[in-house]
Amino acid sequence: MTAAVADAPTPLVSARGVVKAFAVRGGAFGRSAGAVRAVDGVDLDIYPGEVLGLVGESGCGKSTLGRVLLGLLPADEGTVTFDGTDVHRARGHRLRALRRQMQIVFQDPFSSLDPRATIGDSIAEGLRAHGTPARQRQHKVHEVLELVGLEPGHAQRYPHQFSGGQRQRVGIARALAVEPRFLVADEPVSALDVSIRSQILNLLSDLQARLDFTLVFVAHDLAVVEHLCDRVAVMYLGGIAEIGTRDRVFRRPQHPYTEALLSAIPVADPERPRHRTRLKGEMPSPLDPPAGCRFHPRCPIAVAGVCDVETPGLLPAADDPSHRAACHLRTGEHQDLDPGREPVAP
Ligand code: SF4
Repeated sequence: MTAAVADAPTPLVSARGVVKAFAVRGGAFGRSAGAVRAVDGVDLDIYPGEVLGLVGESGCGKSTLGRVLLGLLPADEGTVTFDGTDVHRARGHRLRALRRQMQIVFQDPFSSLDPRATIGDSIAEGLRAHGTPARQRQHKVHEVLELVGLEPGHAQRYPHQFSGGQRQRVGIARALAVEPRFLVADEPVSALDVSIRSQILNLLSDLQARLDFTLVFVAHDLAVVEHLCDRVAVMYLGGIAEIGTRDRVFRRPQHPYTEALLSAIPVADPERPRHRTRLKGEMPSPLDPPAGCRFHPRCPIAVAGVCDVETPGLLPAADDPSHRAACHLRTGEHQDLDPGREPVAP
């Protein structure tokens, strides 16, 4: 995985200038109350065989971005390509081929499974849509059930006969049945008991290593992605605040928001810097995002007259161009400003 990134291959998935907005209606008559730009001008490259963690608070746009990358939601602006094919312009056989190669694992597997269909039928649904003969379908269903730690005999059961963790295994099996090259796992463990989470995380990690698919793992908690991901992208109010390798983001975060998320994680590793960055207040309404840096009302090191006026670009760190952050103070855009606190020593 990591070697693939180091060799700088061509991205499997590329997003450029992606914007996705939703109309918001309010009042007794459902009049338009404006639009929320859930994803606002995102550029992102995802490389073959890597695991990218997409992290941020609720409402930051991470799940919406995941669906736009898969073509499940249309982009209002910008482009998404998968292996050179424009995801949002593909039609006919090209679209069918894309659908097979790009799959999603949902947060709530129960709501994504038909309660009246057997698990076997639900898993075979994608294979049926792609014309796989019945005998091969059955063989594949049994194969993926075993792959996710269930038994072939489970194919005859219904969703209500499974525990939450088992249902998420079924959700993963259903996504993998069509042998995708690209998988978006949308908060796949956040609805599960803590005791089950690590089992599902380990399963996804093992499957990714064995099958070598490209994985975007969406989570609201940096701790969840730490042991799974090669790279991490941190989102805030529709944009990417920071992106880099796991080690860089966890050990040398450039954005104060990333520091705040890291502050919430208990530190067992004595070599890792401890951060004590506390967020101020709530995330602003995406209906009326702040001017300048969108993080400035909550940022403990914001500089008046700069951060509330100028929007920072997502710029590379001086010692690692692949590590980028959207912060005036940390990326040298304003070298005359105080670069801020260093991480607090343990
Ligand atoms: Fe904070 Fe300013 Fe950096 Fe935004 S640009 S994260 S407000 S210091």
